[in-house]
Amino acid sequence: MYRHPSHLRIANVRRTFRLLLARGPVSRAEVARASGLSGVTAGKVADEMIEAGLLEEIDAPPSSVPAMGRPPRLLSLSRTLRLPIVELGVRECVVRSITLADAASPADVARGPIERFAMPRTPHAFFGELTKARRRLPRGASPAVLMSVPGVLSAASDEVLFSPNLQWTHGREVLERIGRTFDAPSCAVQEISALALGELAHNEGSDSFLLVDFGDGVGGAVVLADRLLQGPQPLCGEIGHTGLVGNRRRCGCGAVGCLETLVSRGGLLASFRTRRRAPKATWDDCVEHVAARGIEPWLATSIDAAATVIAGALNLIGVSELVVTGDLPALHPDVTALLDERVQAHALIGRFGRLVCRTAPRRRVFGLVTAAADRVLLAEPAAPSLRAS
Ligand SMILES: [Zn+2]
Repeated sequence: MYRHPSHLRIANVRRTFRLLLARGPVSRAEVARASGLSGVTAGKVADEMIEAGLLEEIDAPPSSVPAMGRPPRLLSLSRTLRLPIVELGVRECVVRSITLADAASPADVARGPIERFAMPRTPHAFFGELTKARRRLPRGASPAVLMSVPGVLSAASDEVLFSPNLQWTHGREVLERIGRTFDAPSCAVQEISALALGELAHNEGSDSFLLVDFGDGVGGAVVLADRLLQGPQPLCGEIGHTGLVGNRRRCGCGAVGCLETLVSRGGLLASFRTRRRAPKATWDDCVEHVAARGIEPWLATSIDAAATVIAGALNLIGVSELVVTGDLPALHPDVTALLDERVQAHALIGRFGRLVCRTAPRRRVFGLVTAAADRVLLAEPAAPSLRAS
């Protein structure tokens, strides 16, 4: 939707977009200061983005305005351009409809509008639920429908190559049909890649890190010098499917002994049920128990297994920052401390340097909008103007 022949100009536009996404509304002077562009260039970039319908000028909130005088004008991401977002999960599908401006505010994203439904087992039932969700959400001009997708996703062909826990999504058809449901082209991002892009755009840590998420599956993503690491196959970061000697659990991928079978939500719950001799215990029972009792040996063993695999990945890629998200670190504050200690013990950086291990909230929507900015909103090939009316 934004067109300019110059690569430099595109880079400036992307920089401005990310700045506004990370900080929310700021003045033109602040854009120039924070982006390192001259005042004239920053102003030109802003004017072109306003013309393209990506930005708008708004009054500063009354609280920041001096008693005398006019409110200063701030640049904001568009409050009319809407992005439908579909987060496909193994247990649940979350559907949102946010404006670009909402994307800059985690509180606005969390507040909604939002629809959730338990993930059906067939495409037919899924699209029935999705259509109902779409009808309940606000609509507007949408340059793309953003999706986060579990499993192995070929970003080049927008095709799910393998999804151990959601096999009916295999192929291209489901993703394309989601796009048609929202009358917009689909922009799909692998779910852990979306988390890593969100973490990167949020700009809290360094520009190189390994992110590991513990959810219904266990996955990783590597960011090196501000970029998501990608190999010739779309498998980078699949550490949840690393086999562990002595682990006899069967994984959804078909192999036996994967890390995921120990430290995914289902894996943790299975261990909890066995050790507590409570075959009907729920995830909430497990969370409550760990919150009250801390890390018992069954959990420490699983954390140690995760640490061994993560340390192997750190030794291989050579980064010194580990970001953990999801269910495992949320169980108890001591989990991250123990994971940190055990990774330090196994990673070579722990012998002479300092590994930074930190938890972070899942910033998936942030990551999806960042990906859409690069692939759709600010892409170099021309697209028709999508100014919201
Ligand atoms: Zn597996």
